[in-house]
Amino acid sequence: MKNYYYYDEKECQFIPVNYGPVERVVYTLGLWVLVGTVITTLSLSLLSFSVGSPSEIALKAENRALYEQLQQTRSSIEHLDEQISMIANMDNEMYRTILGIDPLSDDERQAGIGGADIYARFDAYSDPSSDLLRWTASNLESIERRINIQKLSFKEIKAHYNQNKELMSNIPAIRPVSGIILSGFGMRRHPVLGYNRMHEGVDFRARVGTPVYATGDGVVKSARRWRTYGLLLVIDHGHGYETRYAHLSRLADGIRPGVTVERGQIVAQSGNSGVTSGPHLHYEVVKNGRPVDPLNYMFADLTPDEYIEYRRIADSNPMSMD
Ligand SMILES: [Zn+2]
Repeated sequence: MKNYYYYDEKECQFIPVNYGPVERVVYTLGLWVLVGTVITTLSLSLLSFSVGSPSEIALKAENRALYEQLQQTRSSIEHLDEQISMIANMDNEMYRTILGIDPLSDDERQAGIGGADIYARFDAYSDPSSDLLRWTASNLESIERRINIQKLSFKEIKAHYNQNKELMSNIPAIRPVSGIILSGFGMRRHPVLGYNRMHEGVDFRARVGTPVYATGDGVVKSARRWRTYGLLLVIDHGHGYETRYAHLSRLADGIRPGVTVERGQIVAQSGNSGVTSGPHLHYEVVKNGRPVDPLNYMFADLTPDEYIEYRRIADSNPMSMD
């Protein structure tokens, strides 16, 4: 303990200050409290530097949760992306091709994608987050753009439809039976002959006696037994379109060549006649004398989900029922 002095003006000299025992204790204590505070502050700041303060720990947990949420968002976006591509495909293959409107090219559908990196602002974040944020933002923007293009496209198709209502009621646009599809259009192994050949239609599951519907307005062209097709009904829809319903068990009352039919009208019952591997309905759409994929001519009937499911089955089954 140091000695302190004060100047006595009367005596003109320095007089030592004498502390009492209480004052000494207070002084010593004060010193210890000061040292203690400095050491605690130092160690706390060192600690928070390595582990993080409570608020920092909470922030880190929140960050982790947000990152996980972003990853979930990413899978949702990927799913959306797939669906939009599927709708764009339907739009091109079904509506536009059938209505005779030019299909939109990939470039037109992706309009304006690419160019300057407008997501550079996400570079400030740590790597995985910045990649994910950049991906999310750019993909959301792309989806938004594609949806807008799709909206415009449907608007154009609707206008076209309104100007061509007669054509629209004539071209095949529904399923010929309510059953699920079994085999698709294209090269398929014949179930009885055993070798690959062109399957010029699609096969639907249908028990003998299942109602068969005309898929568009038209006129019965022929109704007779014909080769491996068994009992075959052919409807002429005009505009170059014809539909064929094969392996029937019987025709509906009054169905004979020259009779007018409407879309959705029951024209026959399905069966197992001709060469088949079991009861089903074989259905063909012929345009200007050439068979086309009937799956593209069910747009008035199938939801996009059903179309996706039918497409998957049709493309994956290597064998036809014929
Ligand atoms: Zn078939």
